[in-house]
Amino acid sequence: MITNGKVVQLNYLLQDSEGKNLDQADSNHPFTYLHGSGQIVPGLEAALEGLKIGDKKDVVVAPADGYGEKNPNLRLVVDRSQFPQGMDLEVGMQFEADSGNGEGLVFTIEKIEDKKVHIDGNHPLAGVTLHFHVEVLTVRDATEEELDHGHAHGEDGHHHH
Ligand code: ZN
Repeated sequence: MITNGKVVQLNYLLQDSEGKNLDQADSNHPFTYLHGSGQIVPGLEAALEGLKIGDKKDVVVAPADGYGEKNPNLRLVVDRSQFPQGMDLEVGMQFEADSGNGEGLVFTIEKIEDKKVHIDGNHPLAGVTLHFHVEVLTVRDATEEELDHGHAHGEDGHHHH
């Protein structure tokens, strides 16, 4: 059963409210995470609590329990001259920049004008109601190391040390 400290393997399909596919993980490339560690959005983590191997569930997650509401303060217009000279700017291009408090934030270019560039530092799924269709594949106890790191290791987990 899924409780804190378990490593869980899932199939899932993630759609928006219009039924558009946003992301998915299937049996060939299942998704693995450590339950209770905040590795997945809070609304999904809460809904998976107590599920067992083989369980299927449809979960609707409001933006507040997902990737957050869109923060208008993260939508900025900057001078084109602030980008490196010769850099080919395109709508949809992403880059990391200092958000002002020392933390790196990924910005996406939304619109390009002559001398101005409109950028958005919100997560692409901010403000989106998430519709997850989930199937639980495996549930096991986490290792000491996984608990220590706060994420799952192994087959499909992280390998970054
Ligand atoms: Zn690790």
